[in-house]
Amino acid sequence: MCGIVGYIGNSQAAPILLDGLSKLEYRGYDSAGIAVYDGKEIKMVKAMGRLKVLEELTHGGATLSGTVGIGHTRWATHGQPSDINSHPHFNTSGTIAVVHNGIIENYLALKDKLLSKGYVFKSETDTEVVAHLIDYYYRGNPLEAITKVMHRVEGSYALGILFSEHPDQIFAVRKDSPLIVGKSEDGCFIASDVPAVLKYTRDVYFINNQEVVRLRADHMHFYSVDEEEIQKESVRIDWDADAAEKGGYEHFMLKEMYEQPKTIRDTFSPRVKDGEIVIEELGMTDEDIRSITKMHIVACGSAYHAGVVGKYVMEGMARIPVEVDLASEFRYRNPILDKGSMVVVISQSGETADTLAALRQAQKEGCKVLGIVNVVGSSIAREADNVMYTWAGPEIAVATTKAYSAQLIALYLLSMKFAQVRGKINQDQYSEMLRDLEKLPEQIELLLANKGRIQRFANRYVGAKDIFFIGRGIDYAISLEASLKLKEISYIHSEAYAAGELKHGTISLIEEGTLVAAVLTQEDLYKKTTSNMVEVKSRGAFLLAVTNEGHTDIEETADYVIYIPQTNPYFVTSLAVIPLQLFAYYVSVGKGCDVDKPRNLAKSVTVE
Ligand code: GLU
Repeated sequence: MCGIVGYIGNSQAAPILLDGLSKLEYRGYDSAGIAVYDGKEIKMVKAMGRLKVLEELTHGGATLSGTVGIGHTRWATHGQPSDINSHPHFNTSGTIAVVHNGIIENYLALKDKLLSKGYVFKSETDTEVVAHLIDYYYRGNPLEAITKVMHRVEGSYALGILFSEHPDQIFAVRKDSPLIVGKSEDGCFIASDVPAVLKYTRDVYFINNQEVVRLRADHMHFYSVDEEEIQKESVRIDWDADAAEKGGYEHFMLKEMYEQPKTIRDTFSPRVKDGEIVIEELGMTDEDIRSITKMHIVACGSAYHAGVVGKYVMEGMARIPVEVDLASEFRYRNPILDKGSMVVVISQSGETADTLAALRQAQKEGCKVLGIVNVVGSSIAREADNVMYTWAGPEIAVATTKAYSAQLIALYLLSMKFAQVRGKINQDQYSEMLRDLEKLPEQIELLLANKGRIQRFANRYVGAKDIFFIGRGIDYAISLEASLKLKEISYIHSEAYAAGELKHGTISLIEEGTLVAAVLTQEDLYKKTTSNMVEVKSRGAFLLAVTNEGHTDIEETADYVIYIPQTNPYFVTSLAVIPLQLFAYYVSVGKGCDVDKPRNLAKSVTVE
């Protein structure tokens, strides 16, 4: 999820590797390491913490001689951030070093197999499996061993691999994790992103899924997974370093919105095996799931809004009563918890102070707490009784998009699992829902492709004073998130209202031209919300409607319509939120706001 680099050439490798890793720091990480071949063997230095620690340990790389090496910044997914879990990882004899970005989904099965063959594991990572598996297949031909491994591992990976028996080469390969290679006068480079090599070259090759590269000091060769050589064209990069960090996107927020299809796949696919949802980390037997009498979802900000969606989905599907609380309220309201209560806390950073305090409070009352967390090894991840990670990867923009989307997926999976165990959905419904979940990434891609239209619409509202979002049921939960997104990055006053509640006060704020965005994705509530739209329209509101494809009748009422592809009504938030995120983003861009770092806000809220 973070950064890999590699270098082979005429200069000392370690300082180049450290410099490359520093250009990938923006991607977020918890530990770092490098491995360099020194003429006799592969030497490795790795440490938890900032890159500075590694720089100090190696005197800026000076203490490691050698002109070929690989490096890594780790964003822990399997195993806590620690020195031992940091990359590189080795085979037992120390002759093969591996750095990896991504997740090996079938690592447990592979690990069992390797353990039975006598392999000994030092770390808790999924990555170490790759190092031993290469060793297992290695008969003197690195390319053959690597491609065999590619046939065996499932999941996402970008790998940098060094063999002490072939010190004149490094290897790189990828599937679903980014990887580029570049060549300069002085040597060849691998990196997870362009900024790491910009100082040395502007001609880079983007590696496609299931491709392997063999780099030597003065040339490189590309191969397919069948070991056939392939030809590739280099791409000339003319972005400046700042734009390169954002992968050519203008802002991290936009980049992260575009990462949502991948985030959803990463959160979903490791937990679905042979058509069944398997949430190993839940630590609950079917009996435990059946004995839940009440669920409390506790969170702050957008995570709270994901929790509100979770309430509708869990109650609707699994028929478990759910209370959703803002963490800052939960802690002081003396909630009634008993042994049938399950507490779920949600936090991207895993450091949210109020959520952490709520978790401790619930544990004090004797409840088991499940954390839905993005950052492995964070405080909430450590203190929760069980953790379900959202595999969103590091999120840089303060306003969350992809982490929120991943939280939704975790909540859907949990609800489906509970509904199935409690006998509330039948096999056909279950299988159909899984198919709908699988389609979400593609449907999101379609919605993102429509960004130009939303940008034009958003540009009309850069001068708005107030904007309202309305909806009923899940559509209300979507409205909450849409409104927060808009106000946090555009500084426009905005509120979300349950559509039926508007007439009890807020309708007095509607003036000629006030934008009211209505979300209507729930068939049974469609007519009701339409009536609320008519109420505000007759008081001068300009109406934006977000509704399901096919509901063209809404054009009689709404002034502007965004259509959402068909999906299961419980999963529709994942689609409807996309144009609303884009809307917030383009209003903010249009106003010239600092999109990624809005005023007064912090990414991780560690104060009460
Ligand atoms: N899954 C690997 C680990 O936890 C790699 C994580 C990364 O991409 O940094 O070590």
